[in-house]
Amino acid sequence: MFEQTIKNYLLDLVFPKKCLVCNQFDIWLCKSCQSQIIFETPQICIVCKQPSVNGQTHPNCQTRNVLDGMLAAGKFHQLQNIIHSFKYELVSEVSIQLSKIMINFIETNQLKDYLKSFTFIPVPLHRTRLRYRGFNQSELLAKYISEKLNTQLLLNVLKRNRNTSPQILLDKSHRKNNIQNAFVCPSPGSVKNLNILLIDDITTTGSTLNECAKVLKQAGAQKVWGLVLAHG
Ligand SMILES: [Zn+2]
Ligand SMILES: [Zn+2]
Repeated sequence: MFEQTIKNYLLDLVFPKKCLVCNQFDIWLCKSCQSQIIFETPQICIVCKQPSVNGQTHPNCQTRNVLDGMLAAGKFHQLQNIIHSFKYELVSEVSIQLSKIMINFIETNQLKDYLKSFTFIPVPLHRTRLRYRGFNQSELLAKYISEKLNTQLLLNVLKRNRNTSPQILLDKSHRKNNIQNAFVCPSPGSVKNLNILLIDDITTTGSTLNECAKVLKQAGAQKVWGLVLAHG
């Protein structure tokens, strides 16, 4: 606990709390900037990237190994600074502001009832990166959102057993190979017949989320959807 206080103090010195959009002090995302956030429309199919209602994977694009649907809350260009601070500047507190954007998106699009039956699972980090960063940004989002929406949350059922290069540093053709077989579900019984909502901060090609979906479905999950802040 004491260590945590010192860490927070140091973080305040290095990253004084200010709105990551307009620089107003003392809050990570001020009310005015929050109200200007535009939700992503239309949602797109994760496979062909063409518009699709509520991000559902088109029946023609659906295979057993891909997500059944993917929801992206906001627009990347607008959220870029906030997501970047969250991910690379190690400011875990930003997660609450970002979670609120995702909850707002869910409520505005009347997806709350649909998602009630889903079990939320964050995209895991490899333990080496977790140690370096100190927190898993997807886990913070998943925890906050599932608490507010009152849905089930499962941690540690999906594991990253390979420390892969960050997808953002690779070109499209290398992303799929980079992430292949990076995840495992050590106790398949824990996800059997569940509908799962995978939570991540951003998705680029969707390879990471699809790879997670494949592993969860092989372990017996019924449907697997994704929810991200934005398409990167
Ligand atoms: Zn602001
Ligand atoms: Zn499609």
